[in-house]
This record gives sequence, C-alpha cells and structure tokens, in this order.
Amino acid sequence: MALDIARGIAVLGATGSIGRQTLDAVRQCLPHGRVRVLTGYRKTAEMAALVAEFSPEKVWMPEPPADNWGCEVVTGEEGLLSCARHEGVDVVVNALVGRAGLAPTLAAIQAGKHVALANKESLVTAGALIMAEARARGVNVTPIDSEHSAIWQCLQGNEGNAVEKIILTASGGPFRTWERSRIAREATAEEALRHPNWHMGPKITIDSATLMNKGLEYMEALWLFGVRPEQVEILVHPQSIIHSMVQFADGSVMAQMGLPDMRLPILYALTGPKRVETPFPRLDLLKHNTLTFEAPEEEKFPCLALAKRAAMLGGTAPAVMNAVNEWAVGQFLRGKITFYDISAIISQALDSYTVQPLTKAGDVWAAEAWANNFVGRVSI
Ligand code: NDP
Ligand code: MG
Repeated sequence: MALDIARGIAVLGATGSIGRQTLDAVRQCLPHGRVRVLTGYRKTAEMAALVAEFSPEKVWMPEPPADNWGCEVVTGEEGLLSCARHEGVDVVVNALVGRAGLAPTLAAIQAGKHVALANKESLVTAGALIMAEARARGVNVTPIDSEHSAIWQCLQGNEGNAVEKIILTASGGPFRTWERSRIAREATAEEALRHPNWHMGPKITIDSATLMNKGLEYMEALWLFGVRPEQVEILVHPQSIIHSMVQFADGSVMAQMGLPDMRLPILYALTGPKRVETPFPRLDLLKHNTLTFEAPEEEKFPCLALAKRAAMLGGTAPAVMNAVNEWAVGQFLRGKITFYDISAIISQALDSYTVQPLTKAGDVWAAEAWANNFVGRVSI
C-alpha cells in the first residue's frame, strides 16, 4: 500500500542523522511531501532553521524556544506523543534514538498513522505489540534500516513464495580485523566512532562496533518478516554494497545492492513498493568490484550472542537487554567503561533478570525500570 505523503509527514528526531537525511530526501525527491511536524532535542538553532524552511504546524522541543517560530511548539512526554498523533499526518518517520522511540511508535499506530521506522529499539523491545496493533489498525510499519529495506525489496513480487532464509549482512564495524586482545586494550569510543562505511548517530555507531546493532537487527527482522530465528543468517560483508538477501524455497537468492546512502531506504519506506526518481550517486560495480563475505566472530563480539539469547528468552528480556545496552553505550562514549564491559554488564543483567511475559507497553516500562535499578548498582 503506497503512503499518502502529500497529506503529511511527521519527522520525529528531525535533527539527527536519519532525520536530516529524511528531510533531504523530501527536499530533493518528494516535491508533494508535506512536512507538518518536526521534533528535535538539543539542536535548537538547527531546528529554528528547519522550521523556517519547512513551515511545520507543530514542533516538539524539550523547552519552548526563546523566540517565536510561528507554529505550535509543544514540550514534555505528552507533547511528543501528540506529534506522533497529529491530525493531517499520514506517515510518521520515527528517527528517535533508543528507548525514547517506543511510546511515539505505539501512539502513531494507535492513531492510525503509517510508521516509517528507523527506531529499531521499538521493535526490539515491543515487536509483538507493535505488529499486533499495526495489523489491528490496518497501518504499515515500513523499515528504514537498510538491511530490512533490502529484505522488503527482495520480497516484492514474491508473495506466496516460501522464504527459506534471510541473509542479514553486516559491515563488521571498525574492529572487524583487530585481534580480541587489541580490542580489549585499544578500542576507545573515539576509535569506535570511525565507522568505515556509514556516518550515523553515536549510539548506533557504537552498536555497530560491538555488533549489538546486528543483534538488534536480527530481532527487528524476526518481527517485520515473521521468520523463525534459525531462518536468519548473519553474514559479514565489509563493503556494505549488498544490503541483505533472501533465499527462497527453490534455493534462489535475491540480493538488493546500492551505495551506502540511507536516503534510498528512507525514500522506499515512504513510497514503497513504488520507486521515485533520485539524483543521488549511482553504484558503479567496476569501482566496487570486490564483494567479500565472512562469518561473524561471536567470540570477539559477544553482544551478537547476547542479543540472540535475549530473543530466545523472549517476553521482556529484549527490553532489559536494550535498556542496559543503551546505558552501557552512554558510559562507553563518556570513557567510563571499556568495550568489553558493555557485553559483560548486559550478560550480568540477563543472568540476574527473571523474564516476564510481554502483553502491554507497561510490561516494557517495568522491565526498563528493573534495568535502571540494575545499572544503578553496577560498580564502575
Ligand atoms: P541521532 O543520534 O543522530 O539522532 C537522534 C534524534 O533524536 C535527534 O534528532 C535527537 O535530537 C533526538 N533525540 C535524542 N534523544 C532524544 C530524547 N531523549 N527525546 C527526544 N528526542 C531525542 O541518531 P540516528 O539518526 O543515527 O538514529 C536514529 C534511529 O535510527 C536509531 O534507532 C538508529 O538505530 C536507527 N538507524 C540509524 C541509521 C543511521 O544511518 N543513522 C541507520 C539505520 C537505523 P538532537 O540531535 O537535537 O539532540
Ligand atoms: Mg542497519
């Protein structure tokens, strides 16, 4: 079902990496797209410039701005949810980072909006609730994550054809070729922030370095495509040209390729399965003529196995894992803990947590409260 972007787009997290690229894609490729709602956080001057350019009806910021932006400015938790539900918006782009994204995702779906979802943490923590609500309201949750966009693209025209497996590709991150001992000694936040192929926000960049990002994407794939865990294979592909693949029952494999440019999956999430013309650089396979593949090294990157473990545990385990990871990534970025402390702390949390069933959003909030309490007791 194509989305009616002419009716209205809300961009939550407009001042971030995905938010900016969404607005650039709209600016360059969707002349009929109408941006009605924007949310920011710390970058007030950038938001003022976006308001001047896009003339939204509503903006969310943590604090009201000093000057008049000529639109409604809302604040607080309820204000953020009202942005996700705004009248006249057809599709909500959720480009918020971390656990802040879940409540707006649910609010948007409950208000009957389609959601173009970059905030993978929503699906990781409450995939069952999101998919059930979306089905009940007849709205689409379309993936912005490049791997899931690739899978969705490979599935087009294959309705009714059995999927044997999904091959989720991973760049391997900046420490792919380092020995474990060198990672333990030298993997600082500064090194981790030098991602070889993508320029992203700090949280996902660290998640890419630990391979937790691939673990989160593994869970995201289970919910979006309704496959069993053993049907998802993770394959390291350092060039990030093949964004993921689907193997069908006849053994045939479909791959989606492109330059690493998030504007393409963002546009596809907004217009897919229809494609729009873009002026963006084209893939030249004579320049990118070496595509290589490796198995992921779980011993070097324990976060991947931890994510699989949380997925197997099910219920509220992924919410605890996600919240503890988010806290640990913050500590790592501030130089307070080491690279391998991230996985060690998550592992301890999963060991000491008693998994609860997940039937409502409140179960996620309770799991996150447990995680807050747990990290409060971590001695660093
Ligand atoms: P960024 O950190 O670049 O952007 C996050 C956005 O959310 C910013 O607009 C920020 O505002 C805002 N924000 C931060 N904290 C809060 C909060 N507590 N409440 C409300 N708003 C907040 O992140 P990315 O764009 O990199 O990532 C966004 C999501 O997309 C993540 O879930 C990530 O995993 C996913 N994703 C990102 C990709 C990428 O290429 N970047 C690729 C695939 C998925 P401000 O900047 O003003 O402080
Ligand atoms: Mg991705």
